[in-house]
Amino acid sequence: MPADASYADGSSSADVAVVGAGPNGLAAAVTLARAGLSVDVLERNSYAGGGASTREITLPGYRHDLASAVHPMALASPFFRAFELEQRIELAVPELSFGHPLPDGRVGKAWHSLARTADGLGRDGRAYRRLFGPMLEHVDEVNDFTTQSLIGIPESIWAATIFGLRTLEQGSPVWNARFREDIAPALLTGAAAHIIGRHPRLSMAGGGLALTLNAHARGWPVPIGGSQSISDALVADLTAHGGRVLTGVDVTSYADVAGYGTVLLDTSTSVLAQILGDRAPERYRKALQRFRHGNGASKVDFALSGPVPWTDPDLRRTPTVHLGGTRAQIAAAEAEVARGRVPTHPYVLVTQPSVIDPTRAPEGHAVLWAYAHVPYDSPVDMTEAITAAVERYAPGFRDLVLASTATPASELHTVSPNFAGGDFATGAVNLVQMLKRPVVSTHPWRTPVEGVYLASSATTPGPSVHGLAGWYAARLALQERFGLESPDLGPADA
Ligand SMILES: Cc1cc2nc3c(=O)[nH]c(=O)nc-3n(C[C@H](O)[C@H](O)[C@H](O)COP(=O)(O)OP(=O)(O)OC[C@H]3O[C@@H](n4cnc5c(N)ncnc54)[C@H](O)[C@@H]3O)c2cc1C
Repeated sequence: MPADASYADGSSSADVAVVGAGPNGLAAAVTLARAGLSVDVLERNSYAGGGASTREITLPGYRHDLASAVHPMALASPFFRAFELEQRIELAVPELSFGHPLPDGRVGKAWHSLARTADGLGRDGRAYRRLFGPMLEHVDEVNDFTTQSLIGIPESIWAATIFGLRTLEQGSPVWNARFREDIAPALLTGAAAHIIGRHPRLSMAGGGLALTLNAHARGWPVPIGGSQSISDALVADLTAHGGRVLTGVDVTSYADVAGYGTVLLDTSTSVLAQILGDRAPERYRKALQRFRHGNGASKVDFALSGPVPWTDPDLRRTPTVHLGGTRAQIAAAEAEVARGRVPTHPYVLVTQPSVIDPTRAPEGHAVLWAYAHVPYDSPVDMTEAITAAVERYAPGFRDLVLASTATPASELHTVSPNFAGGDFATGAVNLVQMLKRPVVSTHPWRTPVEGVYLASSATTPGPSVHGLAGWYAARLALQERFGLESPDLGPADA
């Protein structure tokens, strides 16, 4: 237990320890504190936020998101809807959710409006509209389905069926059958490639469809002030309900948390295994050992003397641009990564929050965040590859760069140990590991050690800033350990 962990009433321990102040850890802590429990969040870093943190890492006055940058789930996640995040921070929703330039000069555009997007897709407009239209009409049901455990009976059979059929189509060799041209497929694959892996695959197709659906539903917002604003809103609510975040506390063994009756871990499965040690039965330990990491992201942050001069003017207005070419070209680059090689022309995800959030850089200047997919733990600095990829569609970009900071995959653990090796999903996202995250169970957040729960993206429903793994783990702990109901989370319920 940390040395300074004593309460005003003289007691030395809270009811619950949450290890890790990432979005899932903070979501868990808020839920537990709202239910009336005393909660300590123990965080290794000197600040709270984990994958939702914003810092000056190039030049003074330029604020960069260390990991997550764009937040479809801030509006779509059932946890953030209950927390009413929209009422607490400003989430700027762009008209153009994301853009995708192709090597021949054409540009795919996923507008917030489905109709406008379809209108821009020529002969494929109608097919695209048919793909998303029915899901859009029931978007909350679909979001609820995609963010729950795949084990068990879905709440909405309709949502499961309609989403499942489309995932089967887009995740299999018939993925091009619906389309006659190549812009719509490129748009879909650009979104599916937010998850690293070979294409077509069901897990990537499902993730890509869910992301694109939300691009047309509530949009792809950027928090004003950066992803840190989300973490700060969670910390503010936690502390308002008596909880504490103790920073600079690296939990390495069970002894570090033994004084707490209940412990929730916002950690990787390897740290979970280390903390549980011999307390966990061998079968569970083996399941944790079998849980596979995914490939990695090699990230670069740029401080710019002005906005990116994209050739297509619409790309100057969207925070998110996918680079990597056609569906076939992205699939080829991802196959290279799966074979353990750094592609010559990798898939690159670019965000330029300054187009919608002037707080990130001095007036007239801008920040740019980008990562390329690379093999697990690759030490390769992708600054030149990313600069060349942007320059191709925005001639003159290179001349705007005032400074840049590279975080290769092998260094991403410095942001959060959960991202070790660059695996920003904290465990590969494939069909097996979506069913078995990290074990096959209707309640995968529960560990076999009494009072210890897993609450990170290493468990259901996987990666992204949605707070759901933490929320689900906390609700289970409330019920099993304290006989308490899940509390209301809205600001009006404070
Ligand atoms: C480069 C990159 C880009 C991304 N882009 C997006 C995006 O645009 N949108 C999106 O939704 N998602 C994005 N993600 C994914 C998203 O950041 C993660 O899915 C999310 O942060 C997972 O939340 P978490 O709470 O499970 O883990 P984390 O955010 O990793 O938080 C875990 C926290 O626990 C702490 N911790 C871990 N172990 C210990 C320990 N033993 N003792 C003490 N503290 C510990 C860590 O320091 C960290 O603060 C991105 C991730 C990366 C790396």
